[in-house]
Amino acid sequence: MASLGRLRAALPGPCSLPAPLRRLASGWGSAAALLRSGAFMDGRWVEVAAAFPVCDPGSGTELARVADCGAAEARAAVRAAHRAWPSWSAAPAKERSALLRKWYHLMIENKDDLAKIITAENGKPLKEAHGEILYSASFLEWFAEEARRVYGDIIPPAAKDRRILVLKQPVGVAAIITPWNFPSAMITRKVGAALAAGCTVVVKPAEDTPLSALALAELANQAGIPAGVFNVVPCSRQQTPAVGEALCTDPLVAKISFTGSTATGKLLLHYAADTVKRVSMELGGHAPFIVFDSANVDQAVAGALASKYRNSGQTCVCTNRFLVQKGIHDTFVEKFAKAIEKELHVGNGFDERTTQGPLINEKAVEKVERHISDAVAQGASIVTGGKRHSLGKNFFEPTLLSNVTTNMLCTQEETFGPVAPVIKFDTEAEAVAIANSANVGLAGYFYSQDPGQIWRVAEQLEVGMVGVNEGLLSAVECPFGGVKQSGLGREGSKYGIDEYLEVKYVCFGGL
Ligand code: NAP
Repeated sequence: MASLGRLRAALPGPCSLPAPLRRLASGWGSAAALLRSGAFMDGRWVEVAAAFPVCDPGSGTELARVADCGAAEARAAVRAAHRAWPSWSAAPAKERSALLRKWYHLMIENKDDLAKIITAENGKPLKEAHGEILYSASFLEWFAEEARRVYGDIIPPAAKDRRILVLKQPVGVAAIITPWNFPSAMITRKVGAALAAGCTVVVKPAEDTPLSALALAELANQAGIPAGVFNVVPCSRQQTPAVGEALCTDPLVAKISFTGSTATGKLLLHYAADTVKRVSMELGGHAPFIVFDSANVDQAVAGALASKYRNSGQTCVCTNRFLVQKGIHDTFVEKFAKAIEKELHVGNGFDERTTQGPLINEKAVEKVERHISDAVAQGASIVTGGKRHSLGKNFFEPTLLSNVTTNMLCTQEETFGPVAPVIKFDTEAEAVAIANSANVGLAGYFYSQDPGQIWRVAEQLEVGMVGVNEGLLSAVECPFGGVKQSGLGREGSKYGIDEYLEVKYVCFGGL
Protein backbone atom coordinates (compact mmCIF):
# COMPACT_ATOMS: atom_id res chain seq x y z
CA MET A 1 0.00 0.00 0.00
CA ALA A 2 1.26 3.45 -0.91
CA SER A 3 2.14 5.21 2.35
CA LEU A 4 3.59 8.70 2.69
CA GLY A 5 6.97 7.02 2.09
CA ARG A 6 5.71 5.83 -1.33
CA LEU A 7 4.29 9.24 -2.05
CA ARG A 8 7.60 10.77 -1.09
CA ALA A 9 9.33 8.33 -3.43
CA ALA A 10 7.10 9.52 -6.24
CA LEU A 11 8.27 13.07 -5.59
CA PRO A 12 11.71 14.37 -6.58
CA GLY A 13 13.32 13.20 -3.29
CA PRO A 14 12.86 13.42 0.48
CA CYS A 15 14.86 16.65 0.77
CA SER A 16 12.81 18.34 -1.91
CA LEU A 17 9.44 17.25 -0.49
CA PRO A 18 7.27 20.35 -1.10
CA ALA A 19 6.91 22.49 2.01
CA PRO A 20 3.08 22.30 2.20
CA LEU A 21 3.17 18.52 2.16
CA ARG A 22 6.03 18.48 4.69
CA ARG A 23 3.96 20.71 6.96
CA LEU A 24 0.90 18.62 6.26
CA ALA A 25 2.60 15.38 7.22
CA SER A 26 4.92 16.57 10.01
CA GLY A 27 4.10 14.99 13.34
CA TRP A 28 1.49 12.67 11.90
CA GLY A 29 3.22 9.43 12.74
CA SER A 30 1.18 6.53 11.41
CA ALA A 31 -1.58 8.88 10.28
CA ALA A 32 0.64 9.94 7.37
CA ALA A 33 -0.67 6.72 5.79
CA LEU A 34 -3.82 8.70 4.97
CA LEU A 35 -1.91 10.42 2.16
CA ARG A 36 -2.37 8.08 -0.78
CA SER A 37 -1.44 8.42 -4.41
CA GLY A 38 -2.85 5.32 -6.13
CA ALA A 39 -6.31 4.40 -7.36
CA PHE A 40 -8.30 2.19 -4.98
CA MET A 41 -9.96 -0.76 -6.71
CA ASP A 42 -11.18 -4.13 -5.57
CA GLY A 43 -9.74 -3.53 -2.09
CA ARG A 44 -6.22 -2.76 -3.39
CA TRP A 45 -4.09 0.30 -4.13
CA VAL A 46 -3.32 0.30 -7.81
CA GLU A 47 -0.53 2.30 -9.45
CA VAL A 48 -1.27 3.67 -12.91
CA ALA A 49 1.35 4.54 -15.54
CA ALA A 50 0.45 8.24 -15.63
CA ALA A 51 0.11 10.69 -12.73
CA PHE A 52 -1.24 14.22 -12.37
CA PRO A 53 -0.21 16.94 -9.92
CA VAL A 54 -2.34 18.10 -6.99
CA CYS A 55 -1.51 21.67 -6.04
CA ASP A 56 -1.99 24.06 -3.13
CA PRO A 57 -4.48 26.55 -4.61
CA GLY A 58 -2.93 29.37 -2.57
CA SER A 59 0.65 29.10 -3.81
CA GLY A 60 0.38 26.76 -6.76
CA THR A 61 2.99 24.50 -5.14
CA GLU A 62 2.69 20.85 -6.07
CA LEU A 63 1.57 18.74 -3.09
CA ALA A 64 1.53 15.28 -4.62
CA ARG A 65 1.18 13.30 -7.83
CA VAL A 66 -1.84 11.03 -8.04
CA ALA A 67 -2.71 8.11 -10.34
CA ASP A 68 -4.27 9.41 -13.54
CA CYS A 69 -6.90 6.79 -14.34
CA GLY A 70 -8.39 6.41 -17.79
CA ALA A 71 -11.44 4.66 -19.21
CA ALA A 72 -9.80 1.23 -18.78
CA GLU A 73 -9.33 1.73 -15.02
CA ALA A 74 -12.87 3.11 -14.72
CA ARG A 75 -14.28 -0.02 -16.38
CA ALA A 76 -12.11 -2.28 -14.22
CA ALA A 77 -13.41 -0.52 -11.11
CA VAL A 78 -17.01 -0.98 -12.32
CA ARG A 79 -16.39 -4.71 -12.81
CA ALA A 80 -14.93 -4.95 -9.29
CA ALA A 81 -17.98 -3.16 -7.89
CA HIS A 82 -20.28 -5.43 -9.86
CA ARG A 83 -18.54 -8.56 -8.55
CA ALA A 84 -18.84 -7.29 -4.98
CA TRP A 85 -22.50 -6.36 -5.30
CA PRO A 86 -24.23 -9.75 -4.78
CA SER A 87 -22.56 -10.46 -1.45
CA TRP A 88 -22.72 -6.85 -0.21
CA SER A 89 -26.42 -6.53 -1.03
CA ALA A 90 -27.16 -9.92 0.54
CA ALA A 91 -25.30 -9.11 3.78
CA PRO A 92 -27.67 -8.47 6.70
CA ALA A 93 -28.36 -4.76 7.12
CA LYS A 94 -26.90 -5.02 10.61
CA GLU A 95 -23.52 -6.02 9.17
CA ARG A 96 -23.45 -3.20 6.63
CA SER A 97 -24.49 -0.83 9.40
CA ALA A 98 -21.65 -1.98 11.68
CA LEU A 99 -19.06 -1.46 8.94
CA LEU A 100 -20.35 2.03 8.12
CA ARG A 101 -20.23 2.88 11.82
CA LYS A 102 -16.66 1.63 12.06
CA TRP A 103 -15.74 3.82 9.09
CA TYR A 104 -17.43 6.76 10.84
CA HIS A 105 -15.42 6.18 14.03
CA LEU A 106 -12.18 6.04 12.03
CA MET A 107 -13.06 9.37 10.42
CA ILE A 108 -13.61 10.89 13.87
CA GLU A 109 -10.33 9.42 15.19
CA ASN A 110 -8.50 10.91 12.22
CA LYS A 111 -10.46 14.13 11.96
CA ASP A 112 -7.53 16.50 12.44
CA ASP A 113 -5.49 14.88 9.70
CA LEU A 114 -8.43 14.64 7.33
CA ALA A 115 -9.10 18.36 7.87
CA LYS A 116 -5.46 19.17 7.07
CA ILE A 117 -5.74 17.29 3.79
CA ILE A 118 -8.81 19.33 2.83
CA THR A 119 -7.11 22.63 3.67
CA ALA A 120 -3.99 21.63 1.76
CA GLU A 121 -5.72 20.69 -1.48
CA ASN A 122 -8.82 22.91 -1.37
CA GLY A 123 -7.47 25.96 0.49
CA LYS A 124 -10.43 26.45 2.87
CA PRO A 125 -9.61 27.60 6.42
CA LEU A 126 -8.71 24.74 8.77
CA LYS A 127 -11.68 25.52 11.01
CA GLU A 128 -14.06 25.11 8.05
CA ALA A 129 -12.23 21.94 7.02
CA HIS A 130 -12.79 20.54 10.53
CA GLY A 131 -16.47 21.41 10.16
CA GLU A 132 -16.58 19.63 6.83
CA ILE A 133 -15.04 16.45 8.30
CA LEU A 134 -17.64 16.33 11.08
CA TYR A 135 -20.38 16.96 8.53
CA SER A 136 -18.88 14.34 6.21
CA ALA A 137 -18.58 11.73 8.97
CA SER A 138 -22.14 12.43 10.09
CA PHE A 139 -23.43 10.90 6.82
CA LEU A 140 -21.70 7.61 7.59
CA GLU A 141 -23.17 7.60 11.09
CA TRP A 142 -26.64 8.58 9.86
CA PHE A 143 -26.76 6.00 7.09
CA ALA A 144 -25.36 3.32 9.41
CA GLU A 145 -28.60 3.93 11.33
CA GLU A 146 -30.82 4.19 8.24
CA ALA A 147 -29.43 0.91 6.84
CA ARG A 148 -31.48 -0.95 9.47
CA ARG A 149 -34.71 0.89 8.75
CA VAL A 150 -35.34 0.04 5.09
CA TYR A 151 -38.86 -1.27 5.49
CA GLY A 152 -41.06 -2.85 2.86
CA ASP A 153 -44.84 -2.89 2.94
CA ILE A 154 -47.87 -5.19 3.00
CA ILE A 155 -50.84 -3.91 1.02
CA PRO A 156 -54.45 -5.13 1.51
CA PRO A 157 -55.33 -7.13 -1.63
CA ALA A 158 -58.46 -6.80 -3.75
CA ALA A 159 -58.79 -10.60 -4.06
CA LYS A 160 -59.24 -13.10 -1.23
CA ASP A 161 -56.62 -15.52 -2.53
CA ARG A 162 -53.82 -13.01 -2.85
CA ARG A 163 -51.27 -11.27 -0.65
CA ILE A 164 -49.37 -8.22 -1.81
CA LEU A 165 -45.88 -7.40 -0.61
CA VAL A 166 -43.51 -4.56 -1.38
CA LEU A 167 -39.76 -5.13 -1.11
CA LYS A 168 -37.05 -2.49 -1.27
CA GLN A 169 -33.86 -3.66 -2.97
CA PRO A 170 -30.56 -1.95 -3.86
CA VAL A 171 -30.36 -0.64 -7.43
CA GLY A 172 -26.87 -2.07 -8.07
CA VAL A 173 -23.55 -0.41 -8.89
CA ALA A 174 -23.54 3.37 -8.49
CA ALA A 175 -21.12 5.71 -10.32
CA ILE A 176 -20.45 8.71 -8.11
CA ILE A 177 -18.92 11.92 -9.45
CA THR A 178 -18.10 14.70 -6.99
CA PRO A 179 -16.79 18.31 -6.98
CA TRP A 180 -13.81 19.96 -5.26
CA ASN A 181 -15.66 22.41 -2.99
CA PHE A 182 -16.53 19.77 -0.35
CA PRO A 183 -13.97 17.09 -1.20
CA SER A 184 -15.01 14.77 1.64
CA ALA A 185 -18.66 15.49 2.43
CA MET A 186 -19.94 15.27 -1.15
CA ILE A 187 -18.58 11.71 -1.23
CA THR A 188 -19.96 10.41 2.07
CA ARG A 189 -23.37 12.04 1.50
CA LYS A 190 -23.77 9.74 -1.50
CA VAL A 191 -21.68 6.73 -0.50
CA GLY A 192 -23.19 6.45 2.99
CA ALA A 193 -26.67 6.12 1.47
CA ALA A 194 -25.53 3.81 -1.34
CA LEU A 195 -23.67 1.36 0.92
CA ALA A 196 -26.46 1.38 3.50
CA ALA A 197 -28.94 0.43 0.77
CA GLY A 198 -26.69 -2.45 -0.38
CA CYS A 199 -25.20 -0.81 -3.48
CA THR A 200 -21.50 -0.83 -4.36
CA VAL A 201 -19.81 2.28 -5.76
CA VAL A 202 -17.11 3.72 -7.99
CA VAL A 203 -16.16 7.29 -7.05
CA LYS A 204 -14.54 9.77 -9.41
CA PRO A 205 -13.39 12.74 -7.32
CA ALA A 206 -12.56 16.17 -8.75
CA GLU A 207 -9.11 16.70 -10.25
CA ASP A 208 -8.30 19.46 -7.76
CA THR A 209 -9.07 17.42 -4.62
CA PRO A 210 -8.44 13.67 -4.96
CA LEU A 211 -6.41 13.32 -1.72
CA SER A 212 -9.49 13.56 0.52
CA ALA A 213 -11.23 10.83 -1.52
CA LEU A 214 -8.18 8.58 -1.26
CA ALA A 215 -7.94 9.18 2.49
CA LEU A 216 -11.57 8.05 2.75
CA ALA A 217 -10.67 4.90 0.81
CA GLU A 218 -7.80 4.19 3.22
CA LEU A 219 -10.18 4.46 6.17
CA ALA A 220 -12.87 2.37 4.44
CA ASN A 221 -10.23 -0.31 3.97
CA GLN A 222 -9.16 -0.07 7.61
CA ALA A 223 -12.82 -0.32 8.64
CA GLY A 224 -13.12 -3.64 6.80
CA ILE A 225 -15.46 -2.54 3.99
CA PRO A 226 -15.14 -5.58 1.67
CA ALA A 227 -13.07 -5.46 -1.52
CA GLY A 228 -14.90 -3.93 -4.47
CA VAL A 229 -17.61 -2.22 -2.43
CA PHE A 230 -15.93 1.21 -2.42
CA ASN A 231 -13.63 2.07 -5.34
CA VAL A 232 -11.96 5.39 -6.19
CA VAL A 233 -10.63 6.30 -9.65
CA PRO A 234 -8.91 9.70 -9.51
CA CYS A 235 -8.10 11.35 -12.83
CA SER A 236 -6.86 14.55 -14.41
CA ARG A 237 -9.16 16.98 -16.19
CA GLN A 238 -7.80 15.64 -19.50
CA GLN A 239 -9.03 12.13 -18.64
CA THR A 240 -12.30 13.23 -17.03
CA PRO A 241 -14.49 13.14 -20.17
CA ALA A 242 -13.35 9.59 -21.03
CA VAL A 243 -13.66 8.36 -17.43
CA GLY A 244 -17.04 10.07 -17.03
CA GLU A 245 -18.35 8.52 -20.23
CA ALA A 246 -17.01 5.07 -19.30
CA LEU A 247 -18.67 5.21 -15.88
CA CYS A 248 -21.96 6.65 -17.05
CA THR A 249 -22.52 4.46 -20.11
CA ASP A 250 -21.34 1.11 -18.70
CA PRO A 251 -24.30 -1.30 -18.72
CA LEU A 252 -23.08 -2.72 -15.38
CA VAL A 253 -23.74 0.66 -13.74
CA ALA A 254 -27.33 1.05 -12.56
CA LYS A 255 -27.19 4.48 -11.03
CA ILE A 256 -25.38 7.80 -11.48
CA SER A 257 -25.11 10.23 -8.60
CA PHE A 258 -23.49 13.53 -9.49
CA THR A 259 -22.74 16.78 -7.71
CA GLY A 260 -21.37 19.62 -9.78
CA SER A 261 -22.32 22.16 -12.40
CA THR A 262 -25.62 22.10 -14.27
CA ALA A 263 -23.75 21.91 -17.59
CA THR A 264 -21.93 18.69 -16.62
CA GLY A 265 -25.12 17.31 -15.07
CA LYS A 266 -26.95 17.69 -18.40
CA LEU A 267 -24.19 15.80 -20.21
CA LEU A 268 -24.37 12.94 -17.72
CA LEU A 269 -28.16 12.84 -18.08
CA HIS A 270 -27.65 12.26 -21.82
CA TYR A 271 -25.31 9.37 -21.02
CA ALA A 272 -27.81 7.93 -18.54
CA ALA A 273 -30.60 7.96 -21.13
CA ASP A 274 -29.00 5.31 -23.35
CA THR A 275 -29.17 2.58 -20.74
CA VAL A 276 -31.99 4.16 -18.68
CA LYS A 277 -30.03 4.49 -15.45
CA ARG A 278 -31.37 5.90 -12.22
CA VAL A 279 -29.94 9.40 -11.58
CA SER A 280 -29.46 11.84 -8.73
CA MET A 281 -28.24 15.29 -9.72
CA GLU A 282 -27.12 17.93 -7.22
CA LEU A 283 -26.40 20.84 -9.53
CA GLY A 284 -25.71 24.56 -9.45
CA GLY A 285 -27.64 27.17 -7.49
CA HIS A 286 -28.24 30.93 -7.63
CA ALA A 287 -29.52 31.51 -4.11
CA PRO A 288 -31.51 34.66 -3.36
CA PHE A 289 -31.21 36.23 0.11
CA ILE A 290 -34.14 38.59 0.73
CA VAL A 291 -34.11 41.13 3.54
CA PHE A 292 -37.57 42.60 4.16
CA ASP A 293 -38.21 45.87 5.95
CA SER A 294 -39.57 43.85 8.88
CA ALA A 295 -36.24 41.98 9.36
CA ASN A 296 -33.95 42.17 12.36
CA VAL A 297 -31.10 43.79 10.48
CA ASP A 298 -28.28 42.56 12.74
CA GLN A 299 -29.53 38.99 12.44
CA ALA A 300 -29.72 39.45 8.67
CA VAL A 301 -26.14 40.76 8.49
CA ALA A 302 -24.83 37.80 10.53
CA GLY A 303 -26.75 35.38 8.28
CA ALA A 304 -25.52 37.17 5.15
CA LEU A 305 -21.87 36.86 6.21
CA ALA A 306 -22.23 33.13 6.92
CA SER A 307 -24.27 32.36 3.84
CA LYS A 308 -22.18 34.37 1.37
CA TYR A 309 -18.56 34.02 2.42
CA ARG A 310 -18.27 30.45 3.73
CA ASN A 311 -15.69 28.56 1.66
CA SER A 312 -14.91 31.94 0.00
CA GLY A 313 -18.34 31.87 -1.64
CA GLN A 314 -17.73 28.51 -3.28
CA THR A 315 -20.70 26.48 -2.09
CA CYS A 316 -23.74 25.61 -4.14
CA VAL A 317 -26.02 27.00 -1.39
CA CYS A 318 -24.04 30.25 -0.99
CA THR A 319 -26.12 33.36 -1.51
CA ASN A 320 -25.57 34.68 -5.02
CA ARG A 321 -27.99 37.65 -4.98
CA PHE A 322 -29.06 39.90 -2.11
CA LEU A 323 -32.49 41.51 -2.50
CA VAL A 324 -33.02 44.24 0.11
CA GLN A 325 -36.25 46.22 0.61
CA LYS A 326 -35.87 49.96 0.17
CA GLY A 327 -36.76 50.93 3.78
CA ILE A 328 -33.93 48.87 5.29
CA HIS A 329 -31.54 48.92 2.32
CA ASP A 330 -29.06 51.63 3.34
CA THR A 331 -28.75 50.39 6.94
CA PHE A 332 -28.21 46.81 5.76
CA VAL A 333 -25.54 47.76 3.21
CA GLU A 334 -23.69 49.93 5.73
CA LYS A 335 -23.72 47.27 8.46
CA PHE A 336 -22.88 44.47 6.04
CA ALA A 337 -19.84 46.39 4.73
CA LYS A 338 -18.60 47.04 8.27
CA ALA A 339 -19.01 43.37 9.20
CA ILE A 340 -17.11 42.24 6.08
CA GLU A 341 -14.23 44.60 6.83
CA LYS A 342 -14.09 43.67 10.53
CA GLU A 343 -14.72 39.94 10.52
CA LEU A 344 -13.29 38.54 7.29
CA HIS A 345 -9.56 37.89 6.90
CA VAL A 346 -8.03 36.66 3.68
CA GLY A 347 -5.07 34.32 4.07
CA ASN A 348 -3.59 30.86 3.99
CA GLY A 349 -6.05 28.28 5.27
CA PHE A 350 -3.56 27.02 7.84
CA ASP A 351 -3.35 30.47 9.53
CA GLU A 352 -5.68 30.65 12.51
CA ARG A 353 -6.96 34.16 11.68
CA THR A 354 -7.98 33.22 8.13
CA THR A 355 -11.67 33.14 7.29
CA GLN A 356 -11.19 33.46 3.50
CA GLY A 357 -8.84 31.03 1.78
CA PRO A 358 -7.89 31.19 -1.90
CA LEU A 359 -10.33 30.40 -4.68
CA ILE A 360 -9.79 26.96 -6.18
CA ASN A 361 -8.03 28.06 -9.39
CA GLU A 362 -7.31 30.88 -11.82
CA LYS A 363 -10.48 30.18 -13.83
CA ALA A 364 -12.60 30.78 -10.72
CA VAL A 365 -10.85 34.12 -10.06
CA GLU A 366 -11.37 35.20 -13.65
CA LYS A 367 -15.11 34.51 -13.39
CA VAL A 368 -15.34 36.66 -10.26
CA GLU A 369 -13.46 39.48 -12.01
CA ARG A 370 -15.70 39.20 -15.07
CA HIS A 371 -18.85 39.47 -12.93
CA ILE A 372 -17.53 42.51 -11.06
CA SER A 373 -16.36 44.40 -14.14
CA ASP A 374 -19.64 43.69 -15.94
CA ALA A 375 -21.62 44.99 -12.94
CA VAL A 376 -19.48 48.12 -12.59
CA ALA A 377 -19.69 48.84 -16.32
CA GLN A 378 -23.50 48.74 -16.01
CA GLY A 379 -23.64 51.11 -13.02
CA ALA A 380 -22.98 49.04 -9.86
CA SER A 381 -20.82 50.54 -7.08
CA ILE A 382 -18.08 48.69 -5.21
CA VAL A 383 -18.78 49.27 -1.49
CA THR A 384 -15.82 47.17 -0.34
CA GLY A 385 -13.29 44.80 -1.96
CA GLY A 386 -13.48 44.40 -5.72
CA LYS A 387 -10.05 43.08 -6.68
CA ARG A 388 -7.46 40.33 -6.22
CA HIS A 389 -5.89 40.36 -2.76
CA SER A 390 -2.27 41.44 -2.32
CA LEU A 391 -1.44 37.84 -1.32
CA GLY A 392 -1.67 37.20 -5.05
CA LYS A 393 -2.37 33.99 -6.98
CA ASN A 394 -5.99 32.97 -6.31
CA PHE A 395 -6.76 35.16 -3.28
CA PHE A 396 -9.64 37.62 -3.74
CA GLU A 397 -10.99 40.39 -1.51
CA PRO A 398 -14.47 39.79 -0.10
CA THR A 399 -16.58 42.13 -2.18
CA LEU A 400 -19.86 44.00 -1.70
CA LEU A 401 -21.62 45.66 -4.65
CA SER A 402 -24.60 48.04 -4.43
CA ASN A 403 -26.82 49.61 -7.13
CA VAL A 404 -27.04 46.21 -8.75
CA THR A 405 -29.76 45.45 -11.30
CA THR A 406 -31.22 42.23 -12.65
CA ASN A 407 -29.60 42.58 -16.09
CA MET A 408 -26.05 42.13 -14.72
CA LEU A 409 -24.15 38.84 -15.08
CA CYS A 410 -23.76 38.47 -11.30
CA THR A 411 -27.55 38.38 -10.89
CA GLN A 412 -28.10 36.05 -13.82
CA GLU A 413 -25.62 33.23 -13.17
CA GLU A 414 -23.80 31.60 -10.28
CA THR A 415 -20.59 33.53 -9.42
CA PHE A 416 -19.17 30.88 -7.06
CA GLY A 417 -16.90 33.40 -5.39
CA PRO A 418 -16.78 36.07 -2.64
CA VAL A 419 -19.03 38.68 -4.30
CA ALA A 420 -22.24 39.97 -2.70
CA PRO A 421 -24.38 41.97 -5.16
CA VAL A 422 -27.26 43.93 -3.58
CA ILE A 423 -30.44 44.73 -5.52
CA LYS A 424 -32.91 47.23 -3.99
CA PHE A 425 -36.60 46.29 -4.26
CA ASP A 426 -39.93 47.83 -3.36
CA THR A 427 -42.61 45.18 -2.74
CA GLU A 428 -42.77 41.56 -1.55
CA ALA A 429 -44.23 40.45 -4.89
CA GLU A 430 -41.34 42.10 -6.74
CA ALA A 431 -38.75 40.32 -4.55
CA VAL A 432 -40.39 36.92 -5.02
CA ALA A 433 -40.61 37.48 -8.80
CA ILE A 434 -36.89 38.36 -9.02
CA ALA A 435 -35.95 35.40 -6.81
CA ASN A 436 -38.00 33.00 -8.95
CA SER A 437 -36.79 34.36 -12.29
CA ALA A 438 -33.79 31.97 -12.25
CA ASN A 439 -33.91 28.67 -14.12
CA VAL A 440 -32.30 26.98 -11.09
CA GLY A 441 -33.62 26.67 -7.53
CA LEU A 442 -31.41 25.12 -4.89
CA ALA A 443 -31.43 27.24 -1.71
CA GLY A 444 -33.16 30.52 -0.85
CA TYR A 445 -33.03 32.67 2.30
CA PHE A 446 -35.11 35.49 3.69
CA TYR A 447 -35.25 37.60 6.81
CA SER A 448 -38.59 38.82 8.14
CA GLN A 449 -40.32 39.13 11.52
CA ASP A 450 -43.80 39.07 9.99
CA PRO A 451 -45.41 35.59 10.42
CA GLY A 452 -47.81 36.05 7.51
CA GLN A 453 -44.99 37.09 5.22
CA ILE A 454 -42.85 34.18 6.45
CA TRP A 455 -45.48 31.63 5.42
CA ARG A 456 -46.23 33.33 2.09
CA VAL A 457 -42.62 33.69 0.98
CA ALA A 458 -41.47 30.27 2.23
CA GLU A 459 -44.23 28.69 0.14
CA GLN A 460 -43.67 30.84 -2.94
CA LEU A 461 -39.89 30.56 -3.34
CA GLU A 462 -39.09 28.10 -6.11
CA VAL A 463 -36.19 26.33 -4.39
CA GLY A 464 -35.57 23.00 -2.68
CA MET A 465 -34.38 24.49 0.63
CA VAL A 466 -35.45 27.67 2.46
CA GLY A 467 -33.63 29.42 5.31
CA VAL A 468 -36.00 31.66 7.29
CA ASN A 469 -33.96 34.02 9.47
CA GLU A 470 -31.12 31.53 9.00
CA GLY A 471 -28.14 31.64 6.66
CA LEU A 472 -26.80 28.11 7.14
CA LEU A 473 -29.13 25.20 6.51
CA SER A 474 -27.23 22.01 5.67
CA ALA A 475 -27.53 19.18 8.19
CA VAL A 476 -27.53 15.41 7.90
CA GLU A 477 -31.17 15.14 9.08
CA CYS A 478 -32.48 17.49 6.36
CA PRO A 479 -33.26 16.66 2.72
CA PHE A 480 -30.69 18.39 0.51
CA GLY A 481 -31.56 19.09 -3.12
CA GLY A 482 -33.02 21.50 -5.61
CA VAL A 483 -35.85 22.14 -8.08
CA LYS A 484 -35.77 23.32 -11.72
CA GLN A 485 -32.26 22.93 -13.21
CA SER A 486 -30.69 22.57 -9.76
CA GLY A 487 -31.20 18.86 -9.99
CA LEU A 488 -33.08 15.66 -9.28
CA GLY A 489 -33.43 13.77 -6.02
CA ARG A 490 -32.52 14.44 -2.40
CA GLU A 491 -29.48 13.58 -0.31
CA GLY A 492 -29.13 13.03 3.43
CA SER A 493 -32.20 12.76 5.70
CA LYS A 494 -34.64 9.86 5.75
CA TYR A 495 -35.23 10.41 2.00
CA GLY A 496 -31.60 10.05 0.83
CA ILE A 497 -31.48 6.25 0.91
CA ASP A 498 -34.48 5.97 -1.47
CA GLU A 499 -32.24 7.21 -4.30
CA TYR A 500 -30.41 3.85 -4.12
CA LEU A 501 -33.43 1.56 -3.69
CA GLU A 502 -35.84 -0.07 -6.12
CA VAL A 503 -39.41 -0.82 -5.09
CA LYS A 504 -40.42 -4.36 -6.02
CA TYR A 505 -44.00 -5.57 -5.81
CA VAL A 506 -44.52 -9.28 -5.10
CA CYS A 507 -47.94 -10.87 -5.60
CA PHE A 508 -48.61 -14.15 -3.78
CA GLY A 509 -51.51 -15.82 -5.56
CA GLY A 510 -53.53 -19.03 -5.27
CA LEU A 511 -53.78 -18.92 -1.48
P1 NAP B 1 -18.05 20.49 -12.58
O1 NAP B 1 -17.09 21.08 -13.54
O2 NAP B 1 -19.35 20.02 -13.09
O3 NAP B 1 -17.23 19.30 -11.87
C1 NAP B 1 -17.82 18.45 -10.92
C2 NAP B 1 -17.29 17.04 -11.14
O4 NAP B 1 -17.67 16.59 -12.44
C3 NAP B 1 -15.76 16.95 -11.10
O5 NAP B 1 -15.39 15.70 -10.58
C4 NAP B 1 -15.40 17.02 -12.56
O6 NAP B 1 -14.11 16.48 -12.86
C5 NAP B 1 -16.51 16.19 -13.15
N1 NAP B 1 -16.71 16.39 -14.57
C6 NAP B 1 -16.52 17.49 -15.33
N2 NAP B 1 -16.77 17.22 -16.63
C7 NAP B 1 -17.15 15.91 -16.70
C8 NAP B 1 -17.52 15.03 -17.75
N3 NAP B 1 -17.54 15.42 -19.02
N4 NAP B 1 -17.84 13.75 -17.44
C9 NAP B 1 -17.80 13.33 -16.16
N5 NAP B 1 -17.43 14.11 -15.12
C10 NAP B 1 -17.12 15.39 -15.38
O7 NAP B 1 -18.39 21.45 -11.39
P2 NAP B 1 -17.39 22.43 -10.63
O8 NAP B 1 -17.37 23.72 -11.35
O9 NAP B 1 -16.09 21.78 -10.36
O10 NAP B 1 -18.17 22.55 -9.24
C11 NAP B 1 -18.95 23.62 -8.93
C12 NAP B 1 -20.40 23.39 -9.29
O11 NAP B 1 -20.93 22.36 -8.49
C13 NAP B 1 -21.24 24.61 -8.99
O12 NAP B 1 -22.17 24.83 -10.01
C14 NAP B 1 -21.97 24.23 -7.71
O13 NAP B 1 -23.17 24.91 -7.50
C15 NAP B 1 -22.15 22.77 -7.91
N6 NAP B 1 -22.33 22.10 -6.62
C16 NAP B 1 -23.58 21.63 -6.33
C17 NAP B 1 -23.82 21.03 -5.11
C18 NAP B 1 -25.19 20.51 -4.78
O14 NAP B 1 -25.31 19.73 -3.84
N7 NAP B 1 -26.23 20.88 -5.51
C19 NAP B 1 -22.79 20.89 -4.17
C20 NAP B 1 -21.52 21.37 -4.50
C21 NAP B 1 -21.31 21.98 -5.74
P3 NAP B 1 -12.82 17.45 -12.97
O15 NAP B 1 -12.56 17.98 -11.63
O16 NAP B 1 -11.74 16.56 -13.45
O17 NAP B 1 -13.18 18.52 -13.96
